[in-house]
Amino acid sequence: MEKTILIIEDEQNINDILAFTFEKEGYKTISAFDGVKGLELAISEKPDLILLDVMLPGMDGFEVCRKVRDKSDVPIVMLTAREDEVDKVLGLELGADDYVTKPYSVRELTARVKANLRRSAYTASELDIPAGAEEDANTIRSGELVINIERYEVTKNSEVIDITLREFELLKFLAQQPDKIFSREKLLENVWGYEYYGDVRTVDVTVRRLREKIEDDPSMPKYIITKRGVGYYFNK
Ligand code: CA
Repeated sequence: MEKTILIIEDEQNINDILAFTFEKEGYKTISAFDGVKGLELAISEKPDLILLDVMLPGMDGFEVCRKVRDKSDVPIVMLTAREDEVDKVLGLELGADDYVTKPYSVRELTARVKANLRRSAYTASELDIPAGAEEDANTIRSGELVINIERYEVTKNSEVIDITLREFELLKFLAQQPDKIFSREKLLENVWGYEYYGDVRTVDVTVRRLREKIEDDPSMPKYIITKRGVGYYFNK
């Protein structure tokens, strides 16, 4: 089935290049040149992924991201031009799934887009599993925390924790191999699904968010532990 990518980028030539690139890869593309129109299309056209520039006339990319995220779980890849924009994407809890920094290579960008589309396709198909099916084989328990792999669900003291797909996949990956320490690069490769392009700070930010959700005291974590100078592990 043909996937649709919505490109929200005000610079006509960049928008054209992106559209050309992804159509050549077999995707359908829709272009928007400002934030307001982009937001409108994100909701009306239900794209499979959004490429979202930060600096846009009218409504900027941060605002668009936040507003889209209120209504949809569509993967959003932010296009950032400067390091301070990257910090903002990572720090603002906007709900963006990924970002690339300009100037990016076409190869890098297509790798990111494919990785993010794969992940969302996987989730969509896995969510139809009937309740109670193979409950125990697919469940990891540690203290009051229960991770249900098949249902993409984490509960603590029987209460469902509101967790994003990325946070879930990171937790699952660590919890499936308890006490094994993974470097941030290794986590990026295994959980984010690409080898060379990621920024390891993405891992730290996701760990921080996860701890805020699952730990009693995020500053004294008992599930996801930092091994200083090495990486992270799940303490079972
Ligand atoms: Ca721009």
